[in-house]
Amino acid sequence: MKINERIEEVFEEAVQIRRLLHSQPELSQKEINTSRLISSFLSQYEIEHATGIGGHGVVAVVRGKGKPIKGQRFFTIGIRADMDALPIEERVQIPFKSKIPGIMHACGHDIHMAVLMGTAKVFKEMEDQIPGNIKFFFEPAEETIGGAKAMIEEGCLENPRVDVVIGLHVSPELEAGKIQFKRGKMNAASTEFEITIEGSACHGAHPENGIDSIAAASSVVCNLQSIITRNISPTNPAVITVGQIHGGTKNNVLAKETVFSGIIRALDSDTKSFIKSRVKEMAENVARGFGATAEVLFTDSFPALINDDEVEDMIESAAKKVFSKDQIHFLQEPSLGADDFSYFSEAVRAVYFNIGCLDTNENNYQTLHNEMFNPSEECIRTGMLMEVFGVLELFQQTK
Ligand SMILES: [Zn+2]
Ligand SMILES: [Zn+2]
Repeated sequence: MKINERIEEVFEEAVQIRRLLHSQPELSQKEINTSRLISSFLSQYEIEHATGIGGHGVVAVVRGKGKPIKGQRFFTIGIRADMDALPIEERVQIPFKSKIPGIMHACGHDIHMAVLMGTAKVFKEMEDQIPGNIKFFFEPAEETIGGAKAMIEEGCLENPRVDVVIGLHVSPELEAGKIQFKRGKMNAASTEFEITIEGSACHGAHPENGIDSIAAASSVVCNLQSIITRNISPTNPAVITVGQIHGGTKNNVLAKETVFSGIIRALDSDTKSFIKSRVKEMAENVARGFGATAEVLFTDSFPALINDDEVEDMIESAAKKVFSKDQIHFLQEPSLGADDFSYFSEAVRAVYFNIGCLDTNENNYQTLHNEMFNPSEECIRTGMLMEVFGVLELFQQTK
């Protein structure tokens, strides 16, 4: 049977799996039933797998028994899907609406899992012909702590050693049935910061007797933006956002302490490190000007997501065999959003791409993380086609 026909058959099953996953979403680090469902599906089709990887993650493998191709470059290819849902109350009226109050698959991770499960089934049936191994990474906690990091630390890229990882994300900015690639830099590196400005309290009517931490903090907040406009090239995108500020206890008391926090995003680690050092310098020196002190804490989050251009070319050439020209799109600009797929792209050669999920019949454009997010299930077909043919293309690459 032709591969396309096989995908078509499995597609219906993948849609049903997606609906089941959608109805029982689980938050980051709590993907217990989700992991169980994946495991029982894999067991049903006798696909080798291990659970409890990096939290509630699942790693499956199909060991191809086909003869290696002369000069073959890649022998083990990984495919990743994230598992967690979001603390959002679903407002979409569909028969398989979330049964869990306040939790919803509003980032399409139910789709990503269904695509990967369908792909695993197709590959298992083809194992006698495949000249290499395929590993399937079901990754927990993408939305919070970045489950990819823990999975990699627990060795998911070893035994057998993974040469390339691919992954996809649904995009409501693109019609279902379309696919979107990006060369090089795709998503930002992310760091969180917290700055504590320490002054001294006194009566608000006699400010000369104290040090006003709110006045100092306000000045630091304003000056942080000058790092982006005056220290970074205008052609190098980066952002500093202060998202919270807390200080003071009473209207007529000078605030002893003000704490504010936010995020730094940049498209490469050098720019991110440079911004961090400037934030520290700026906070400490501006605070000093007020007679206050600043303590600056950073928590590094995801690294930058940079696609491997050569692997990207290979995936693109697979896409050209399966999709028509008007279905293949290219993202012109990188995003300052972050995705923890970057831990994979930092560790091995990797490519991340988008699959369109906008339902043009419904005129229901919603953004990701929205209570009305309602992707077209057509994208499950697109995703499976791309994962199956993308991996087969990578195996066929020779030196
Ligand atoms: Zn998300
Ligand atoms: Zn997501």
